[in-house]
Amino acid sequence: RAKAEGRANVQIFAPRMEREVMRRRDVELDLQRALAEGELTIYYQPQFAVDGEVVIGFEALVRWVQPSRGVIAPGEFISIAEQTGLITELDMWVLRNACAQARDWGELKLAVNLSPVDFRSGDLDMQVKRILDETGFPAERLEIEITENLLFGNQPEAFASLAALRRMGIRIALDDFGSGYSSLGYIRRFRVDTINIDRSFTQNIGQSDDAAAIIDCVVRLARALAITVTAEGVETREQLRYLQSVGCHHVQGYLLAGPVPLASIDRYLERATFPSPPPKRSRVTI
Ligand code: C2E
Ligand code: MG
Ligand code: MG
Ligand code: MG
Repeated sequence: RAKAEGRANVQIFAPRMEREVMRRRDVELDLQRALAEGELTIYYQPQFAVDGEVVIGFEALVRWVQPSRGVIAPGEFISIAEQTGLITELDMWVLRNACAQARDWGELKLAVNLSPVDFRSGDLDMQVKRILDETGFPAERLEIEITENLLFGNQPEAFASLAALRRMGIRIALDDFGSGYSSLGYIRRFRVDTINIDRSFTQNIGQSDDAAAIIDCVVRLARALAITVTAEGVETREQLRYLQSVGCHHVQGYLLAGPVPLASIDRYLERATFPSPPPKRSRVTI
């Protein structure tokens, strides 16, 4: 009995870090298998015009469907995938499948999240190009969401890949804007197409005058630079009304719609407008 207890103690006193490393290793192996066996799936969260009615696109959000546990959100596995390098395979899987699934959704935008780790490879733009070619998805409808961390890292190869993606016609969105080391310098240095205001600001509308003032200011700045603003995490009518009043372009959040599986996408496609292309204006030179 003493022997058994002794062993139990070893378990208890095993250094925390070691156990953490083992847990990560388990998740990593499991995730690798999940990728191979098709346990990953993509949910789509609609994004709306600021009226909250018209659907303008979808953000692809990965999910892990574990037979024993059900649907697992990315918070539980993305950072482990980033630390083990599996993230790029995962992100390219999401990109390929989302492009294939969204190809026939009219002119709607598809937003896909990429990790800063993906940009270390140096040939990310070629990987993305191959996926667009294979799926036939038009570059102009794709928006890649990156976080400030990528720009903060200051990797030259990241800037080169971003520039190459933009040259292909892909839009770049700065995600979770305001949550990290936000700097106006990034926006100046690397011209993004869209800023996604972090939900921590949106959710403080009505609670904090500062949050409201910051949003107002970011929208003005973005508009002056011809950048589109999407507010994330809109949960109340009051937040939506405020975002309308300051001229925010797009909104996303549980008030309007949460992420849905592919099977539920039709009802949102019906709410999309497909504007006819603007009439071609002949250029008159005097
Ligand atoms: P994100 O890109 O900022 O995506 C928005 C997250 O906020 C999603 O969480 C979404 O479900 C959640 N959300 C949307 N509306 C609301 C709201 O009104 N209130 C609240 N409280 N939350 C809202 P999700 O799907 O759990 O994803 C979490 C994060 O994981 C994402 O944040 C993104 O950074 C990352 N992620 C998701 N899919 C991928 C992927 O394929 N690749 C990579 N690299 N990262 C991904
Ligand atoms: Mg995102
Ligand atoms: Mg987002
Ligand atoms: Mg975000």
